[in-house]
Amino acid sequence: MITLADIHRLFRSDEVETAALRSIELQIDEGEFVAIMGPSGCGKSTLLNVIGLIDRPTSGRYLFRGQEAGELDEAARARLRRDNLGFVFQSFNLIDELTIAENIELGLVYRLWAGRERRARVEAAMDRVGIAHRARHYPHQLSGGQQQRAAIARAIVGQPALILADEPTGNLDTENGEQVMDILKSLNAEGTTIVMVTHSPAHADVAERVVNMLDGRIVVSARRAA
Ligand code: ADP
Ligand code: MG
Repeated sequence: MITLADIHRLFRSDEVETAALRSIELQIDEGEFVAIMGPSGCGKSTLLNVIGLIDRPTSGRYLFRGQEAGELDEAARARLRRDNLGFVFQSFNLIDELTIAENIELGLVYRLWAGRERRARVEAAMDRVGIAHRARHYPHQLSGGQQQRAAIARAIVGQPALILADEPTGNLDTENGEQVMDILKSLNAEGTTIVMVTHSPAHADVAERVVNMLDGRIVVSARRAA
């Protein structure tokens, strides 16, 4: 599904240059569940942003389903994102002024489906993560665990092939973290590819493969014993 070849990402300011990614070689197959681990600042979020077509590498090749992402203009990249990707963040990133159902519908904002179809998809996504009873509530009225499940519903409502999750359980207690992991696990069992940054060895254990990073490099990429 994804091939990264000799990817570098430099951040330059007047005084400093940071090599956030160095010589990254990574292949991700359709249907995989990959966990990315490593200390704070080692480049995990930068890698996820490159994979998610949010950020462009300074050099290197990125193939997404056979397409050279580096050769696409912003409009084409936005289309690829819309049609293929769902994002989940540590801090949920729901919009406070919108209800949960409206937040989830944002996941369909560029889709041309008619009203009835949209509502059915939003309903199905809410059912999927167990928050249908909170549809008309606002984010601040929900617990952290419920907010993250709503954020997952927003990510999956467009039925993406790939979910990118940046420390999705980082702000949750153990029980809510487990619920989020159960949802990701079942999405993966149905064929959704998942790339998840985590600091939790237990949550990384759910993945088929763990990629360990240090100082912008991949130091180990190990498949879990079956
Ligand atoms: P992680 O997610 O593993 O904590 P990041 O990918 O966020 O690490 O950051 C990797 C390195 O790149 C860090 O040194 C960070 O300060 C730097 N960095 C990330 N984003 C930017 C940016 N937009 N501008 C400048 N430096 C950045
Ligand atoms: Mg990060």
